[in-house]
Order: sequence, then C-alpha cells, then structure tokens
Amino acid sequence: MPELPEVETFRSQVDLEVYNKQVCEIKTSKLMPVLGSINLTKSAAGKKLTKALRFGKYLFIQFEDETTNLVLHFGMSGSLKFNFNGQDQLDQTPDKDQIPQIRSVRKHTHLTLLFADNSTLSYINPRRFGLIMACTNSEVDGIISKLGPDALSEDLNVKYLQGMFKNRTAPIKTVLLDQKVIAGLGNIYVTEILYSSHISPFNPAHLLTDIQIKLILKNIRKILNSAIENRGSTLTDKGYSDLLSKNGDFQKFHNCYGRQGLPCKICKTNIAKALIANRGTYYCPRCQKY
Ligand SMILES: [Zn+2]
Repeated sequence: MPELPEVETFRSQVDLEVYNKQVCEIKTSKLMPVLGSINLTKSAAGKKLTKALRFGKYLFIQFEDETTNLVLHFGMSGSLKFNFNGQDQLDQTPDKDQIPQIRSVRKHTHLTLLFADNSTLSYINPRRFGLIMACTNSEVDGIISKLGPDALSEDLNVKYLQGMFKNRTAPIKTVLLDQKVIAGLGNIYVTEILYSSHISPFNPAHLLTDIQIKLILKNIRKILNSAIENRGSTLTDKGYSDLLSKNGDFQKFHNCYGRQGLPCKICKTNIAKALIANRGTYYCPRCQKY
C-alpha cells in the first residue's frame, strides 16, 4: 500500500493540480534524503512541473527541462499531498504550539516543493519504506527495466503470463506480488483478483490452467480500473488518502480483503485468513478450493 490504483490517483491529481506550477523552493529531509545522481534542489528550482507518469507503484514527476525526474516510491505508508496554503510543508523541528495534527504531518514529511503561489506538494512517509530519487531519463529507464510489465499495460497478456507461471512452483499469490513479474499489484488487489477468479492463493502458479490465467488477467484489469475510478482504497488504519486528503472509496467494494470471519458474499462460508510469505492472506475456503 499504496498499490497501482492509489499511485495512479496521485498521478492524475498531480497532473491536474500541479501542472505548470513553478517551483520556488525545495525542502529535503535528512531522515529520507533524495537519492540519485541529480541534485534536485539545483536542477528543479525555478522550473515548472510538466508531467507526472506512473509505472507499477512508481511515480515519476518531470520538469520543463525534460531531463530532471523526481522519482517517488511510497513503500508501506507513503503519500503525496497538495496543499493550497502550504500548511503541511516540511518542518521536522516544529514548535510545540502547533496543532498536534499539523505537527505530526510535518514531522513525517520528507520532501516539499513550494510553488510561487504559496501552494505545496509534500511527500509524507511515517515508516520511511520507499524512496525519493532525482534521476536522469536513462536512470528512469533503468528502474523500469528491472520491473515486469505494468499491470494495466497491453504487454501483460495471456502468453506473457503463461511463460512467467510455467516454471514457478510458488503459490500464485506470491508470484502475482513479485514486481519483476507484474508491476503494480500488492496485497489488497491480489486478494481481490484471486477471490473474483475463484482461485486459491495457495495454488502453485505452474498448475494454473489457461482458463484460470485468462480469468486472472480479466480480473486484474477489471478490479484495478474500478479501484482507480474510486480513487483507491482507504483502510481502517487511514494510511492512504488522495492528493487532496480525501479518502478513497474502493474499500466499499472489497469482497475478500480484511473480511476474515465474515461470510463469503457468494457461498456464505466464513472468509479465512492465513499467512503466505508473511503477508496476511484472505480467501474463501469453498469458492477458492485448492
Ligand atoms: Zn465462498
């Protein structure tokens, strides 16, 4: 978390809200420094943001010089926030008189771009998994080349999946989470995709039939697109909200994730929870037989 739909929500909102804004100042943090070969403070100051792109769970923000890329990965708890009045900008030694809510946001903010109109774009990440990088175009290509096809790209097709699955004896859930196989899927959406496909998460990938592979592909597209339309999933931990701090809505359409002990919406058997590769795994023991 955030997975593809949440990062895609950030991307489309950055394009909408921050397009053509000129960066006046850049604040960085020692706790989560900007990695990569480019000095972001020097390269991006005074420049306009021109485009936001996404690949898998990565967000790439481009500037008008067409050579500076701000690369963001959100790990477990990262998010991106646009603020009209700059209230949540980076300040890791905030004064005690501030409202606790603002103080907490500022404490976990690791990058802020301040724009000429006093608005800000801030990267917030309490658990600090993920990364902030300033990269050249070829370094961006290098990052993408290490990933499998984006989960919503045409390159992800039945033939590709047959090839990837045929020698993998690991559970299908583990293989779908592998970013080198498919870029963009995480625990929530893999859970929903396998439930909708009536496939056990424990099923070894190489034993899937062609019909099951087609079903997985169909549900990847259907569920991710529906999640994007609903601006992603905000769980009860409130870990994710969109660029304007609004909760996503797709959690209302979760059929399996987080529902252990509740009746399956199809067969009324209680949803079970197990661990696969140390990740909480939800499934219906009857609809997703193994
Ligand atoms: Zn069921």
